[in-house]
Amino acid sequence: MARKILGYIELVWTCDSCGTKNPGAIKSCTSCGAPQPLGVRFEQVDPNTFNFIKDEALIRMARSGPDKHCPYCGTRNLADALTCVQCGGDLTVGATSRPSGDVIEPYPLEGKQSQPQPTSGQQPMATRTPMPRKVSIVMILVLLAICVFGVFMLTQMLRTDVVKATVTSTQWERAVTVESYQLVNASDWAVNIPADASISSCSLEYRYDSDEPAEHSEEICGTPYTVDTGTGVGEVVQDCYYRVYEDYCRYETMGWTVVDTLRLTGTDLNPLWPAANLTSTERVGEATETYTIWFNAGGMNYDLRTTNYSLYQQAYPGSEWELEVNQLGAVTSAQPSD
Ligand SMILES: [Zn+2]
Ligand SMILES: [Zn+2]
Repeated sequence: MARKILGYIELVWTCDSCGTKNPGAIKSCTSCGAPQPLGVRFEQVDPNTFNFIKDEALIRMARSGPDKHCPYCGTRNLADALTCVQCGGDLTVGATSRPSGDVIEPYPLEGKQSQPQPTSGQQPMATRTPMPRKVSIVMILVLLAICVFGVFMLTQMLRTDVVKATVTSTQWERAVTVESYQLVNASDWAVNIPADASISSCSLEYRYDSDEPAEHSEEICGTPYTVDTGTGVGEVVQDCYYRVYEDYCRYETMGWTVVDTLRLTGTDLNPLWPAANLTSTERVGEATETYTIWFNAGGMNYDLRTTNYSLYQQAYPGSEWELEVNQLGAVTSAQPSD
């Protein structure tokens, strides 16, 4: 968040001795002459009646830092004063600077940036009737029962039985993709696009938030508020950040792309990889293999799909296997019996 200064406004302080409200920059009470006390709090004048200060000297004073109080007579002096304007005392040792930086009160700015005022005719809050105690206990018990049942079902499903089975048939499938080096369509932020690519179209899209403005950015500011500068002058500020937009483009560039998938299947135990007739701009891409073994165990049929080639090679029709089968009838592991 970057803090943006909108301007400076006069604050007021209240005299401890007589209760008079004095302008912030006035160092001693306009009514009784008492010096402004050390612990006094500056307040904002009625937000509807003030204007930003135009007096350059006053603004310069506000920017120079918090005022300090004379260690001898308590009179408020400017931040850069060396001797007290009231008693002439030395201010370089023992003078107390006023606290500064406190937020005074929200400063409503008129116009487009003001918060929408809530309209009259508020919706009555829906009141929640407390649930009878008996009902809630029953509900808790029901929920508990559902949980217990769920855990029971889960353990049942995870439970496996060992089944002795015979291989009835097998099938293999092997596939390879063919990739070609050619023009491909892609999209990315303009800064990431390779220099040799040809850009077809771009549009500005939101990319990130920043404290600093950028080439294409939108300033987003919060509600202005007043900060005590410690001088009797308040600084009206606004916390802002920037939504940064950048070019997101569609472009064409040379790259590898899948143009074909070659597949071979068979029912024997000697799977082969499909042979690719490649041109000079092609290469073989991803290779996949899937093996299925069907079993019979006392009239029940099971099947196992796997990518394990060495397991598949042992699946001679008629061979005896030991299967682990879960409660849904799925084979979770299989191995030939010795
Ligand atoms: Zn007074
Ligand atoms: Zn003094």
